[in-house]
Amino acid sequence: MTVTTGNATDGTEPNGQGGAEDVAYTPEDLVDWVESLAAILESVDRSQNQYWCSQWWNHPEAVDRFRALYEQWLGAQAEGGMSSWWIDHFDRHATILFAKRGPFGECGTTHTEKTARRILGTEQPPMNWSW
Ligand SMILES: [Zn+2]
Repeated sequence: MTVTTGNATDGTEPNGQGGAEDVAYTPEDLVDWVESLAAILESVDRSQNQYWCSQWWNHPEAVDRFRALYEQWLGAQAEGGMSSWWIDHFDRHATILFAKRGPFGECGTTHTEKTARRILGTEQPPMNWSW
């Protein structure tokens, strides 16, 4: 149960919101927004091999993607561009979020705690590494 709390240093200001350093929304705002979004989604359907988890907040990748979507949504609400939000943002994330291999793919009607979360390993490059 790790809800990411907003830190002022993680650069989450919505687009065009005056450059305030404070995060313009709270974790509760995000929860409310995701609940509202989930309530209207008819295109996500298990029979179409799409997956959802009612504990979406238990999936760090999903939380990060929803935060990104929420920030774009705030901008689209303020400045217009909801069609672009759906097509260029929601649809693009949805292909990952709700896929069998996506964050919710192992969850059924209830959240399934991963016994071994698949984490991509990384190693430090050599000291003289460059591009
Ligand atoms: Zn889950």
